[in-house]
Amino acid sequence: MNQPNSVGLRRRPIVALAVASAMFLSACGTNPHQSPEAMRPIGTSLNAWDEDIARKAELESVGTCRLRRDVVAWFPCADSRGAPAISEAEMSTIVDKLERGIRAAKVFIGAPDWSCGDDRRVFFYFPDANFISHAPGGNTAFIPLWRIRQDQAPWLHEAMHLLVKVDGDWLSQADGVAEARMPLWLHEGLAEALAMAVAEQEGFAHYSPLIDVPADRLDAFAAEHIRACPDPPRLLAFVGGRGKLSELFGEERMQYAPAFYAASTPFVRSLARRDGGYRLLLRAIADFDNEITTYERLSGRSLDDSRREWMASIGVEIAPSSVAPSR
Ligand SMILES: [Zn+2]
Repeated sequence: MNQPNSVGLRRRPIVALAVASAMFLSACGTNPHQSPEAMRPIGTSLNAWDEDIARKAELESVGTCRLRRDVVAWFPCADSRGAPAISEAEMSTIVDKLERGIRAAKVFIGAPDWSCGDDRRVFFYFPDANFISHAPGGNTAFIPLWRIRQDQAPWLHEAMHLLVKVDGDWLSQADGVAEARMPLWLHEGLAEALAMAVAEQEGFAHYSPLIDVPADRLDAFAAEHIRACPDPPRLLAFVGGRGKLSELFGEERMQYAPAFYAASTPFVRSLARRDGGYRLLLRAIADFDNEITTYERLSGRSLDDSRREWMASIGVEIAPSSVAPSR
């Protein structure tokens, strides 16, 4: 989901907690023949919420982790009632799937040797709690345990936020700067479109909490939700332009978020179809704070024109308002 710089989300360094937590060993699932550091590696979380810091520290101190070449997954040992949270077999099945997906995702975006620092692994934390899945930065993603167990987790989407190269960090910008300049539609639409593509390639069931429809229903779903949101022209100004629609981070979130994600994803997919793949979009999103102009230069088309064409193709004839700067 990735909710960078949102009102009320606080960030704090986690180094001290991470170091302290590495000193603990859990009772479940450790291998006495390997060092604690090798068996219990800790992820790097650059823009973590306060809740992330606490949950990460707890899992790293009393949880259990499973390792693969490209994935580390942290699970709780016990649920809130003290019963085993998840079986060994289920953890294995989940981690094998994560590993296959992350390897495929890296290849798909042309970064088979992706790493964060010297670590090529994506760290998934699965707290036994209810919250919005997100990837705050670095190499960590936070997803509720129940979601991954029920196969209703946007884990590929969150991983894409980490894997896609960006020569800068919108999440660390001041709230006002990111709200005005970050092309959120591109970050969210591209993460979701790439996740859908990799899921399809690997035969995974793709799941999105907000737009849980098959790919061939996306355009219709988008048209329906754009028309239904409280202010379609305002919403559309943020799809293809700069800035973050503030309603996504306030009390009106559920009135706008399905429409925003539903619009951003098929719009990005339409651009990739026209471009013959995601190469141009990936180059554009990497060019921090120049994403729009870089994409338009590489593709030779204005995003306003492209959005107009896509909207016509889904039968929505609404002009965007001019609330957001487009360049
Ligand atoms: Zn996201």
